[in-house]
Amino acid sequence: MKVYLDNAATTPMDKEVIEAIIPIMENNFGNPSSIHSFGRSSRAIIEKSRKKVAGYINAAPGEIVFTGGGTEADNMVLRGAVDDLGVNHIITSKIEHHAVIDTAEIIGDQKNIKVSFVSFDKKGYVDVASLETLLEENKDKKTLVSLMHANNEIGNKIPLKKVIDICKSYGAYFHSDTVQTMCHYKFDVRELGIDFLTCSAHKFHGPKGIGFLYINENIQLKPIITGGAQERNVRAGTENIIGIVGLTKAMEVAYRDLKEHQDHVQGIKTYMIERLEDLIPGITFNGDPKGDSLYTVLNAQFPNSDMDEMLLYNFDIEGIAVSGGSACSSGSNVGSHVLRNIGADMTKPSIRFSFSKYNTKEEIDYTLSVVEALFVAKTV
Ligand code: PLP
Repeated sequence: MKVYLDNAATTPMDKEVIEAIIPIMENNFGNPSSIHSFGRSSRAIIEKSRKKVAGYINAAPGEIVFTGGGTEADNMVLRGAVDDLGVNHIITSKIEHHAVIDTAEIIGDQKNIKVSFVSFDKKGYVDVASLETLLEENKDKKTLVSLMHANNEIGNKIPLKKVIDICKSYGAYFHSDTVQTMCHYKFDVRELGIDFLTCSAHKFHGPKGIGFLYINENIQLKPIITGGAQERNVRAGTENIIGIVGLTKAMEVAYRDLKEHQDHVQGIKTYMIERLEDLIPGITFNGDPKGDSLYTVLNAQFPNSDMDEMLLYNFDIEGIAVSGGSACSSGSNVGSHVLRNIGADMTKPSIRFSFSKYNTKEEIDYTLSVVEALFVAKTV
């Protein structure tokens, strides 16, 4: 049996998305910037898509900038805030995706900008009081706060509205990397009063290499990649019409079926937690999976055994795709920066199981049977 439980790394494309893309590939090759009819028809498709995407988060179409994915959108915010908005202080956390944390550190070094980090409580939640303290201590600075809505490795969420309100009360810009939560929860940018949101389609059954940045209409950023005047002069380069149509369809499907999928995936996660706790005495979970946690992610810390180093490999041999940390870091063996920074026990092996609407109870039962075979007889 083959079981894919690495949906936080990426998701399989939805058939409806594939079906929406094929006619675009066949018929709509015109450059959207061309003024002839081929170009105009591509332009019309892109603008229709932008309007739909904006509608799903209650934004205005002009606030949506299509990007080459989440990493690019995150970079645009951090770099743009410093270069164009006069930001001279970034507050972020040490468990952000590398697209944010590395970018913040690089900008900090290059531009001599102060970068501050919030702290965490014992369960790995952002300590909101530490954010307030940092804002208070740096009142003289122009600050951008960048905190992810839910962590891609442990699933912990932040209280988004509360954090936004605090940032507003200090006049700070606020960005949330919502790459793991867009299309898994509803967003209303007007109600939230947020400045920036980032999104990546391949995390919700859309294509890779396409995402968007929501920029509040009162904020004007300059492009970080210069060239043509596409995307209202904020993101140069011929638009990825195939990706844009795919992203839009993926969003439409996700929000149409949201409740059904939330319930299904949450059910799978809860079942897996309960069964793992039954099967393996001493198992613990990184983060707070029974608390305010992204329902697609479960990060389990297994007891030590004689196959600590081989755990991922053993799952793989049995046809189960899981992850030891963030897939974006695979190939490096420094261990997960997220687990390290929330103070997890790094001597024990941790596995991230991440689920999607396509996973079934049978697949989870099979995975549990593999866990049982690997662990129950072997735990030292
Ligand atoms: N932010 C988070 C939280 C992610 O999980 C990822 C992907 O793993 C990214 C950003 C990067 O997105 P993309 O792969 O579209 O560049």
